[in-house]
Amino acid sequence: MKTALEQTRLLVPPSCRPTPALFLDRDGVVIEDCHHIDDPSLVRLCRGSRKLIASAKSYGWPVVIVTNQSGISRGLFQWKDFDTVNDRMQQLLGSDAPLAAIYANGYGPDAPAHSWRKPNPQMILEASKALNLDLQRSFLIGDRLSDLHAGASAGLFRLFHVLTGHGCRSRESVIAWHRMASQASACVEQSSPRLPALELLNTLEDFELALLKHANPA
Ligand SMILES: [Mg+2]
Repeated sequence: MKTALEQTRLLVPPSCRPTPALFLDRDGVVIEDCHHIDDPSLVRLCRGSRKLIASAKSYGWPVVIVTNQSGISRGLFQWKDFDTVNDRMQQLLGSDAPLAAIYANGYGPDAPAHSWRKPNPQMILEASKALNLDLQRSFLIGDRLSDLHAGASAGLFRLFHVLTGHGCRSRESVIAWHRMASQASACVEQSSPRLPALELLNTLEDFELALLKHANPA
């Protein structure tokens, strides 16, 4: 059950059959991170985001935004402000780069245990139920470690870390986490969830090249 600090904007109906999806963090990945952005006039797309989302459309992958917005619980802005920023983002992306849904968590660090706040995977799991997604063939791109934690906990196919937003500051901890998690997963039973592979990107423009290194799961 959703709380007042959790919000969904569903933009398409569910797929007829389970479909791979592309999950994207918003701030620092799709739009530039302006630290608790609440003014639509400040919205700027990150390099490559429009083209990436248009490519996802051509592959038939729904694109789902999963974003932590602790500014809501901190009282820095309201959901209506968040919505106007999303409206502007969608306007800049245009009809060639459509989103399937936007999931947002408004809790801060004192969130209850099973809230939507990343690193919990709840937003991804909720989107999977609502849109009929195949998480084991899905991707996630994020700029923070908590994004990738959420994707790993949701059992996604592959995780991508970008250097935009907080990416430069988090790159080392992302690599260290994945190395340790890989070592740990090698020691546990095969019935445990598989750790998704990690790809390191500079910007979203590198995504398709990284994808070509592997067989397309779709
Ligand atoms: Mg971010």
